[in-house]
Amino acid sequence: MAEKRWYPAKTQYCKHAGGEVQLEVHVVLPPEYLPDQPPHVVGHRCSHGLQCNLLTQPSCVWAGTNPAYDPFSEEE
Ligand code: SF4
Repeated sequence: MAEKRWYPAKTQYCKHAGGEVQLEVHVVLPPEYLPDQPPHVVGHRCSHGLQCNLLTQPSCVWAGTNPAYDPFSEEE
């Protein structure tokens, strides 16, 4: 049976969270009887996205409140 897991892909400071947050990737791993199949990436999220979504001000694309701003695409 295929297995789904979240893995950290990138860690950086975010001013909205006031600390380090992670960009996480959702991966579907192949079942044991198909070991040659590569893992499939099916989604991304920010580890702090749910909390930012509850803020009264727009934050970023990962919180779903500001599609024009992606903190993870900025250079550190
Ligand atoms: S959801 Fe966006 S604003 Fe909030 S911590 Fe993550 S990257 Fe920063």
